[in-house]
Amino acid sequence: MIYLSVVVPCFNEEMTIPLFYAEAVKTAEVINEQFEIIFVDDGSKDNTLNILRQLANQDKHIHFISFSRNFGKEAAILAGLQAAQGEYIVTMDTDGQDPLSLIPQMLECVASGEYDCAGTRRVNRIGEPPIRSFFACCFYALMKKITEVEITDGARDFRLMNRKYLEALLMLPERNRFSKGIFPWIGFKTKWFEYENIERTAGRTKWSFWKLFLYSLDGIIAFSSKPLAIASVLGVLLFLAALSFIVFIVIRKILWGDPVDGWASTICIILFCSGIQLFSTGILGQYIAKIYTEIKQRPQYIIREAQ
Ligand code: UDP
Ligand code: MG
Repeated sequence: MIYLSVVVPCFNEEMTIPLFYAEAVKTAEVINEQFEIIFVDDGSKDNTLNILRQLANQDKHIHFISFSRNFGKEAAILAGLQAAQGEYIVTMDTDGQDPLSLIPQMLECVASGEYDCAGTRRVNRIGEPPIRSFFACCFYALMKKITEVEITDGARDFRLMNRKYLEALLMLPERNRFSKGIFPWIGFKTKWFEYENIERTAGRTKWSFWKLFLYSLDGIIAFSSKPLAIASVLGVLLFLAALSFIVFIVIRKILWGDPVDGWASTICIILFCSGIQLFSTGILGQYIAKIYTEIKQRPQYIIREAQ
């Protein structure tokens, strides 16, 4: 029986995989139990797949799954979790931002049976562009307000879980997978490990600002229906405003007659209302688009090669 499975999504990580592998071998010696590392090549365009083939041929602990194209990190993690055989399962990045040296402590804490999952969070964002940190903080504050799940600020995808926890995770069939929300949604007992932000060992981040922005929208839509409520409330408020305005106009007409003026204000009101309407339809559209992708039931990833 395999004791520990390590699931590692990789997208154009030719520079970091050899470093990661060297570190992982050292950690495995410390743990001294049966283990496997499952690299998931998320449609890399560089030499990642060749490196993985080589590692898998020379070391029987190494397995890899290679996608037919880039399906995104969430899909890569899912594929690895579905393939994992271990009693305990870790998900982490290759780039050295998730310290392998924490695994023995995390393992001890979950293996003791007191916790089902060991999560990690970084306590600061040193080394990250300030504008990115600012928007990340806004996102977490907003998520706290509008979702029912407790999303931990700075939580990373570096986690160690037991089989029970993994099985619960895999029961969720959704295609729009926002794991920062899925983990707290399934519950169980999680112990948090904290560490300072560590910069990548090599290579560049795969997340552009735009990609992160779309990802945060996905998260909001997946875990909250509040935007729909906001649209409805805006509608009611506008209706009430219009009603008071009608009363005002009628009274003005009775008291002072009706000189023709106010074109500018009319145009402003029309623009304002149609803006709100488009905004609300847009919100509705986002939810419908998500329903559409869910209902198509397409696979979350397609495997081209595995070993
Ligand atoms: N990744 C992936 N598919 C993607 C983007 C990223 O599998 O489409 C992997 C990447 O190879 C890395 C991890 O996800 O192992 C985290 O990516 P990155 O380090 O670029 O993100 P950051 O740490 O800056 O949030
Ligand atoms: Mg990283």
